[in-house]
Amino acid sequence: MSKQMLVMELSCPQCKATLTEGAKVHLDGKVKETDQDGEITLSAVFGDYSVETDLDIKEGMIVELRCPNCDWSIMLPITCKLCGAPMASLNIKQNGYIEFCSRRGCKGHALGGIGDIDDMMSLMNRMFETPYD
Ligand SMILES: [Zn+2]
Ligand SMILES: [Zn+2]
Repeated sequence: MSKQMLVMELSCPQCKATLTEGAKVHLDGKVKETDQDGEITLSAVFGDYSVETDLDIKEGMIVELRCPNCDWSIMLPITCKLCGAPMASLNIKQNGYIEFCSRRGCKGHALGGIGDIDDMMSLMNRMFETPYD
């Protein structure tokens, strides 16, 4: 199977609104360093860390992410194991949740983590409840 085909249905942990639309995840974000606020669109494709936004986010900047529906902060009190930035979290509709880094340019920014095969398999298991080994 190709991981490019794995599009995640994500929802807000607070209001349960579906945030995935097509292959995109719509969020609101605030850039701490420049105090900008606006819309941020992440790729819902597993392992793809591309971002679309009108905000001026330079590589390495941290964005505080919120649910565009209820304004709930999805930031977690834990940090990225790759770069030390705060992690954000969304629920996976099928089952479980996903954590990702809030720093632009970090590989941990990809939904599904750093895209390594172990992370992918455990995510697949959480999503589909089918043991895969
Ligand atoms: Zn919400
Ligand atoms: Zn990171």
